Amino acid sequence: MSRIGRSYKQHGIPGNAGIGKGWDAIVIGSGLGGLTAASMLARHAGKRVLVLERHYTAGGFTHTFHRPGYEWDVGVHYVGDVHRPGSLLRRAFDHLTDGELAWADMGEVYDTIVIGEDRYEFVAGRERFRARMHEYFPRHTAAIDRYLERIRDTVRTSKKFFLEKALPPMLGRLSSPLLRGPAMREARRTVKEVMAEITDDPRLTAVLTGQYGDYGLPPSQASWFMHALLVGHYLAGGAYPVGGSSRIAATILPSIEAAGGAVITSADVAQILVDGKRAVGVRLADGEEVRAPMVISDAGLAVTYSRLLPKEVAARAGLRPTVEGAPPSYAHISLYVGLKHDAASLGLGRSNQWVYPGDDHDATVARFVRDPDAPLPVAYLSFPSAKDPDFARRHPGRATVEVVGLAPHAWFARWADTTWKKRGHDYEAFKQKLADRLMAELVRQCPAIAGKVDHAELSTPLSTTQFAAHPHGEIYGLSHTPARFAARHLRPHTPVAGLYLTGADICTAGVGGALMGGVLTAAAITRKNLVGAILRDRGPRSPRQRREASGVDVDDSAHAGGAAALGRGDGVEGRPGARVA
Ligand SMILES: Cc1cc2nc3c(=O)[nH]c(=O)nc-3n(C[C@H](O)[C@H](O)[C@H](O)COP(=O)(O)OP(=O)(O)OC[C@H]3O[C@@H](n4cnc5c(N)ncnc54)[C@H](O)[C@@H]3O)c2cc1C
Repeated sequence: MSRIGRSYKQHGIPGNAGIGKGWDAIVIGSGLGGLTAASMLARHAGKRVLVLERHYTAGGFTHTFHRPGYEWDVGVHYVGDVHRPGSLLRRAFDHLTDGELAWADMGEVYDTIVIGEDRYEFVAGRERFRARMHEYFPRHTAAIDRYLERIRDTVRTSKKFFLEKALPPMLGRLSSPLLRGPAMREARRTVKEVMAEITDDPRLTAVLTGQYGDYGLPPSQASWFMHALLVGHYLAGGAYPVGGSSRIAATILPSIEAAGGAVITSADVAQILVDGKRAVGVRLADGEEVRAPMVISDAGLAVTYSRLLPKEVAARAGLRPTVEGAPPSYAHISLYVGLKHDAASLGLGRSNQWVYPGDDHDATVARFVRDPDAPLPVAYLSFPSAKDPDFARRHPGRATVEVVGLAPHAWFARWADTTWKKRGHDYEAFKQKLADRLMAELVRQCPAIAGKVDHAELSTPLSTTQFAAHPHGEIYGLSHTPARFAARHLRPHTPVAGLYLTGADICTAGVGGALMGGVLTAAAITRKNLVGAILRDRGPRSPRQRREASGVDVDDSAHAGGAAALGRGDGVEGRPGARVA
């Protein structure tokens, strides 16, 4: 198993004993947000950036883990827009990885919504999506058209909303009505409120909101803005990183090192050092100190302001580790399944499956949160070995499945102080019960799997805390309620000079959101138009990518680049033809 980054335990921090030139910046956390910020500072300002990651491998939620014969992604199942070489998100990935990261198109159907015995396929491409929905709901074609129109209009407000975050706070405040106003009119409303204006059909509503797990909140709680960005992000289809999600960090890291930086793992930052009113470095859990004129935190708002900053500094600067009305998002459980058969022989397809017990997502979530024995409100089935054209080379004759469900952190809180793998029998029994239920759902949807499971293990919210450092095991950081988008302090600049935030919390959850969080932070620091720099970047490219670029049209949508600035969401029509990037 190859780990990404250099281990602190084995190598220490290069040049930290007075040798070498010193660091220009320290990034806490090697999630996609942290790596993107580091790479952009290296590329566009020649900065030597030290990325410190507490886990044993870099990547945050993009890391993978292994068991003999198998490997699974922990937080990437599909990404929108990246299979279209002209989209901003694809260009951003090409820029960050020098074209070394390849994407495999998931093909015609990227999501399948399963409600009881009924199945609804989400087909790539706005017009094909529309046509398929018209077929499913012939009496509601006007509502479907209104819905798609509303998604597009909302997505169009997003570019300015996110770009405002890169401005210095004073300028941001002055330009807020112009830049944030239009998006906030959409963001203040819940998905349920807007859907009620579009249709009163419960099944159509359930299907169109059937990806709510991608932002982690049922319709009555989630902001319509987030929903529109998410739906728009995938309208042109989905793609999977060839070689698995660990390729994301592996292909960004060289650009950080090329500028003299380093990505150091097993390096747990205990505190941000503040001298007077300025962040000047960090102290690791073992007491070692590293100095730099700026510190960027990808650890999330709550961890940064409540755990890493000295309490008196946070209090003096009036920093709030929470957003009123946007609590930590729900936590999740994930069943990692390994099979000694390949995906094709088991009939596993590339489309994700969202399995629901009924039409009312709010009611089923509320019932389950109250009673763990209630029907699972959602089971999300993902088949990475079927999506990854490189999987068979790495793991011949094997297949993997991930089944994700929702689970409140509170159910596990009583074991929070126990040690990993030694949490006790009652914990294991509770886990087993949940694992059995997810497995039963998997077998119900994919009967060929029955009796063939070689490996199955369940992660819980405590695993998320252990390996990704999210204190409440939250799947998506701060929840995506209307209040989250109203919060002005979710931006790169902080009141502490030299301290910046990055990653999903300052943008939106998702690979695209975290990446654009990193771009915004680097743009705020350098005061450069880095989105422009990404769009201007035409090479150099790997031979693989040059072949691809010559064979496929680039996106010609007027608004694609800007809307995708938020990472999740552009809502333009996809190009036909599944391909492996
Ligand atoms: C189950 C699941 C499925 C998902 N599926 C998808 C999907 O299909 N598509 C998609 O687009 N998105 C998906 N996401 C969301 C996406 O993975 C995340 O939103 C995104 O990767 C977050 O990136 P980040 O950089 O903001 O934070 P993270 O990836 O959380 O990185 C933060 C890093 O900071 C480190 N850290 C924290 N504290 C410290 C400290 N004190 N010292 C050192 N290091 C520290 C952590 O260890 C972690 O590595 C999924 C997420 C989950 C959990």
